[in-house]
Amino acid sequence: MEIQALGGNKLSLTNDGRLDLFFIGVGSAFTKRNYQTNLLIIQGNDHILIDCGTSAPMALAKAGIHITDIHNFFITHSHADHIGGLEEAALLGRYFTKKKPVMIITETYQHLLWDMSLRGGCGYNEEAAGEVLAFVDFFEPRRPRYITNASRLFCETALGDIKLKFMRTKHIPDSSGSWESSFWSCGVIINGKILFTSDTRFDPDLVITFNEQFPLEAIFHDCQFFTGGVHAGLEELATLPPEIRKKIYLMHYGDNWEQFEPRIAELGFAGLAQQMTHYLF
Ligand SMILES: [Zn+2]
Ligand SMILES: [Zn+2]
Repeated sequence: MEIQALGGNKLSLTNDGRLDLFFIGVGSAFTKRNYQTNLLIIQGNDHILIDCGTSAPMALAKAGIHITDIHNFFITHSHADHIGGLEEAALLGRYFTKKKPVMIITETYQHLLWDMSLRGGCGYNEEAAGEVLAFVDFFEPRRPRYITNASRLFCETALGDIKLKFMRTKHIPDSSGSWESSFWSCGVIINGKILFTSDTRFDPDLVITFNEQFPLEAIFHDCQFFTGGVHAGLEELATLPPEIRKKIYLMHYGDNWEQFEPRIAELGFAGLAQQMTHYLF
């Protein structure tokens, strides 16, 4: 794996065929020093933006591209730091570029995303014969395939050479005992070798099981610097085996990260993920 900062360059949405994980942000939901943790995957002629938070359009502009340049989305869950930029993508697509971006999404989550979040700002911009707009007027849904006999809900899909598998995770509410009783949230396995957890509470089964089932080269894991609430705490992640910790890049972290850098190094993590940076595999 090679790590390259974008520097002053303009981001290209195509490359020579290497898998490029480009973080447009690595911060927490409420960060004021970073952009929110959203990940752009680029390989060959294809790209997918995993999550499109409130700060995503601004972060993309910082990288030299426009939200309307993004043709494929995958959304892990409905918090605003993961979906807050979608309305801008939807409205610009319908009224400016006249193009519908693809969204890789299950039918179940499409209903949750539209009815509970996007419909208020998108649905009522037009009405014809008493009907207002629907999800499919803004996005082209692409259905993943369900993988049966997995230990938790598990789906897969491919876009060119980019192969995504995603599994349900345990994020909210903080009282839920399992992924089944949690509200919809997902982590992603990219090309069978990278685990991107998105937001999750500490869930050793998630990391240990998928690390056993896949030859994981790197794990990008949610992290907060305290214990409790709906994210994985640094000291909870410290209880994972050392051979797993050394693959883990922490992301979704708070604005006081400098304070914790010595502890992160002492625990043998790979480090803090950096935004506006290519992770090339
Ligand atoms: Zn988040
Ligand atoms: Zn969240």
